[in-house]
Amino acid sequence: MKINSLQDLYVEQLRDLYDAESQLIKALPKMAEAANSDDLRQGFEDHLDQTRGHVQRLETIFAKLSEKPRGEKCKGMVKEGTEVLDEDMDENVKDAAIIATAQRVEHYEIAGYGTVRTFANLLGDREAAALLEQTLEEEEETDQQLTELAEDINIEAEQGSEETEVEERVQSRPSSRKKPAA
Ligand code: FE
Repeated sequence: MKINSLQDLYVEQLRDLYDAESQLIKALPKMAEAANSDDLRQGFEDHLDQTRGHVQRLETIFAKLSEKPRGEKCKGMVKEGTEVLDEDMDENVKDAAIIATAQRVEHYEIAGYGTVRTFANLLGDREAAALLEQTLEEEEETDQQLTELAEDINIEAEQGSEETEVEERVQSRPSSRKKPAA
């Protein structure tokens, strides 16, 4: 479809977000399952409920525009969301890696919703702008919660991998060490 106007671009951007949210509904249960931290798992489960709401808001906007929600494949989200889950990774650092991925996804959505909210305002669609603003605020809250969870989880990852290093050093250390000369 040729994009001839801001209205066309607005619909195209909404479709990208709709596809991104649909992918996230599939990815979030996998991310919850892969999380070691109970708080992190709960966070993903809560965000899954929110994400269903985000999809509904977009469907409301498409219905009012008499446009179909599908048709745009969001390539940014596809791999980022789940690739990390299959990687061979020390369990101490896995949660930190999952958070890093989840925050990329949130920032992608924050950028997208900020744009369509601004477009909706320019195009005079106040109702859509308000719905998109609500979702934008929820994405920002989720990003903030992930930052807070990361504060502890990153430290655990750092200490966990340090322990592994110490064990390696202990194993490779000679059994007796000479005292340094006085
Ligand atoms: Fe969302």
